[in-house]
Amino acid sequence: GNITLHKVREHVWEIPPEDGMRVPARVFASERLLEEIADDKSLQQLKNTTHLPGIEKYAICMPDGHQGYGFPVGGVAAIDAENGCISPGAVGYDINCGVRMVKTNLTYDDVSGMEEELVEALFDAVPTGLGGGGIVQGDRDTVDAVLERGVDWAREEGYAVKSDLEHCEDEGVRPDADPSAVSQKAKDRGRNQLGSLGSGNHFLEVQRVTDVFDADIADAYGLEADQIVILIHCGSRGLGHQVCNDYLRDIEQAHSGLLSKLPDKELAAAPAGSQLAEDYYGAMCAAINFAWVNRQLITHQTRTVFADVFGEPWEDLGMELLYDVAHNIAKKEVHDVDGEDKELYVHRKGATRAFPAGRPEVPSAYRDVGQPVIIPGSMGAGSYVLCGGEQSLDISFGSTAHGAGRLMSRTQAKDEFWGGDVQDDLRGQEVYVKAESGATIAEEAPGVYKDVDEVVSVSDALGIGDKVVRVAPVCNIKG
Ligand code: 5GP
Ligand code: MN
Ligand code: MN
Repeated sequence: GNITLHKVREHVWEIPPEDGMRVPARVFASERLLEEIADDKSLQQLKNTTHLPGIEKYAICMPDGHQGYGFPVGGVAAIDAENGCISPGAVGYDINCGVRMVKTNLTYDDVSGMEEELVEALFDAVPTGLGGGGIVQGDRDTVDAVLERGVDWAREEGYAVKSDLEHCEDEGVRPDADPSAVSQKAKDRGRNQLGSLGSGNHFLEVQRVTDVFDADIADAYGLEADQIVILIHCGSRGLGHQVCNDYLRDIEQAHSGLLSKLPDKELAAAPAGSQLAEDYYGAMCAAINFAWVNRQLITHQTRTVFADVFGEPWEDLGMELLYDVAHNIAKKEVHDVDGEDKELYVHRKGATRAFPAGRPEVPSAYRDVGQPVIIPGSMGAGSYVLCGGEQSLDISFGSTAHGAGRLMSRTQAKDEFWGGDVQDDLRGQEVYVKAESGATIAEEAPGVYKDVDEVVSVSDALGIGDKVVRVAPVCNIKG
């Protein structure tokens, strides 16, 4: 590309402000990771984002970053919540796409040989793909209750226990949710999808802990070598997508004046304090609640399957939630900007909150060590649990990466890989995968993602998210 970056220090690169940029842009990457985004639109998109009114300090691209809609996936933009704006494209279509990890007290020996049985049972119990319905068939009142109350609704209905709320970002409910700001069309799309993985990149993976990097923090998280854990990745399905669509269209029309000053239409933003900013924020928070309930319902099914397969109640199998993190979200948070506490819309799109010890938002169980941060890698390579790092509040508005990040588009992936071959290769590595279609497996082949070890090592070196444990895939169902 023709965008010049200056090296600020190891792993920190900067695009200095020029015409129209209100602040610099920063990329957190190794030289190799930087090279991998040199030819896509990531850097241009990151530059464009710095034109948004009220953006503070710098727009940031995380080490897993790659191009997205308007704003890179792996991007963080913190914008003045009083005098700035909020931008749906900098949140993403899949509002509160995120990951949660469920622990068990099983070891790899307990599940080895049972992969096929587990995968088949999970595949039967958890709806996948575009159709397929949900775990709960919701009427209109149900959807409204879910949007309003999040995981607390699930607890009341018997799909969650108290500790599930305690171990979820924001305790599984955004109180600013405004179901009346969500269109009927969005609600109708959500009604049949309550408790469903969705397609493609979303998955449920059984994993085993292979490496422990920080024994004290692993202990505080209840993780140890050889333990079986479960990772669930999905979001707000058609409901969130529709919310994003609805508001992008309305904001483009109502705030065309602001839009005309931005370099990319995909960055459409509503000025802070405007009716649309309020409505979008309320609708987005409602979609966030929907996604948390979605992951909770899948957790409930997973517990039921494990209880069946292993012949013990899930409580006896130690199937507690470690944590649930959102990675497509904008949230009002208070951060220090030039020595002053300011309320900001922190947009994290393909980025994870990574608050260190002490921040009041970190659940009490983890407040002394820092919040768990879950970084999926791929169905071949492995994944990580990190801990919110001491430096994150200073350099990344309390954020780090969200995954390995894509190296190539889905179309490229299908030219490059054949689903059946990928599945066989994985079987050779003793990873048992089942998906709706072979195309999904090709699009999500381990080779389409960057090197998760490299991404995580940048996070760890910068001190924004520190390595705690590494996990390897055992079996996986794909959306
Ligand atoms: P995204 O939310 O951007 O679609 O995906 C988040 C991350 O999940 C990706 O960047 C990728 O590293 C990771 N990922 C995708 N598929 C799988 C999978 O099947 N298993 C695991 N462990 N990680 C995956
Ligand atoms: Mn998603
Ligand atoms: Mn995601």
